[in-house]
Amino acid sequence: MEKPLTQHINLQQPLSLKEYEAKGGYSAVRKALKMTPQEVQKMVQESNLKGRGGAGFNTGMKWSFVPMGENAPHPKYLVANADEMEPGTFKDRLLLEGHPHQLIEGMIVAAYAIQADISYVFLRWAYKKAAALIRKSIAEAYEAGYLGNDILGSGWSLQMHLHTGVGRYMCGEETALLNALEGKRATPRAKPPFPQISGLFGKPTIVNNVETFCCIPHIVNNGADWFKGLSKSEDAGTKIYGVSGKVNRPGAWELPMGVTVRELIEEHAGGMKNGYKIRGILPGGASTDFLTVDHLDVKMDFKSVAAAGSRMGTGTMIVMDDATCPVGFVHNLQHFFAQESCGWCTPCREGLPWVERILLSIEKGEGRTEDLELLQMHAQFLGPGNTFCALAPGAMEPLQSALKYFRDDFERHIHQKGCPY
Ligand code: NAD
Repeated sequence: MEKPLTQHINLQQPLSLKEYEAKGGYSAVRKALKMTPQEVQKMVQESNLKGRGGAGFNTGMKWSFVPMGENAPHPKYLVANADEMEPGTFKDRLLLEGHPHQLIEGMIVAAYAIQADISYVFLRWAYKKAAALIRKSIAEAYEAGYLGNDILGSGWSLQMHLHTGVGRYMCGEETALLNALEGKRATPRAKPPFPQISGLFGKPTIVNNVETFCCIPHIVNNGADWFKGLSKSEDAGTKIYGVSGKVNRPGAWELPMGVTVRELIEEHAGGMKNGYKIRGILPGGASTDFLTVDHLDVKMDFKSVAAAGSRMGTGTMIVMDDATCPVGFVHNLQHFFAQESCGWCTPCREGLPWVERILLSIEKGEGRTEDLELLQMHAQFLGPGNTFCALAPGAMEPLQSALKYFRDDFERHIHQKGCPY
């Protein structure tokens, strides 16, 4: 089984630039520079790579919206979204700490494809180890001529900077991230215009996730068909999946796109710990709908998980066991989302703390039957289309599905006036 993204991961001592070059590193930059930017874009489009940040938007299509040619506005920007803060999600950390040069190479190729001038790694504040490694790797890439002016004599130039965030979930939303990069408060912007047209400082900008960029060198080196062939489903490539919760071996693994939920939990995570059973599964971080034991044979790809009523999101699943109270579990998530709301739009700012308070009162045994209708109403009013960005709708996904699958538990809390767990 090919594992292109993680084959050179070394968490103790990541490859230096020279060591990476000895294993074929930066050959994708050399190859891309011999192609036209449009040819690189076409290759990525044909590979059917979908964004690994959680939304699954087609990467090549996103790049194709960037104005090209002599009259295109400059500078153009490229940003790696490394602000990984989705609860339960630690896949980008693996790539950042285990093989930083792969990300930098992917960013250089992507920047060439859209003819960007300036690039940033926007890194989660807490990823201190990754910050040091990326800083060192960027310096090595400048030294070797892969960054800077007239890269490898191509006439094309690219600058790259590391920017560390301040530890707010909101900064991972691409337009809030751009505001933060501009030194402004990290609130989301209205879309459209999408960043591809008007992004950082009003200029064309591509924002992609770390794992997405890490796929790029392999696509350019091996071709679109090879990338598609790595997958077990119609979504191409491999995916870094993860499992956390009361499983025997929590972790993250690069596997063909489309492995089943069962394979992830039973084979790779070693099954549930003794005495615990699966009650619910959040397939891709906290902002996804619960799946249940009835969904163990669902393939972990964007389309299949959506058909099962959830989203693959980041692909790093959280397993909730039968000894964990679903009300307490969802309250904990809503506490996080309420705390991380940027306060920009009223439904999110006011609604999330309200949801959190209702859940806490139910958990404490002070809930009323009508609270379940109130929660249902919030799930609708904070849903897609009613807020400025995806934060509150994402927060409503585990709530609405918990009300669907674990309603009995909510009712027991109310009738027994306390938590039965
Ligand atoms: P989105 O679907 O609005 O956008 C995804 C990407 O596609 C963006 O780059 C956007 O610019 C582009 N896009 C979408 N529609 C477009 C159009 N019509 N024209 C041009 N470009 C278009 O999703 P989002 O709000 O950016 O992200 C939400 C996702 O983020 C959720 O799926 C969630 O799982 C994930 N998420 C991840 C983390 C993490 O730590 N990795 C944290 C929070 C949320």
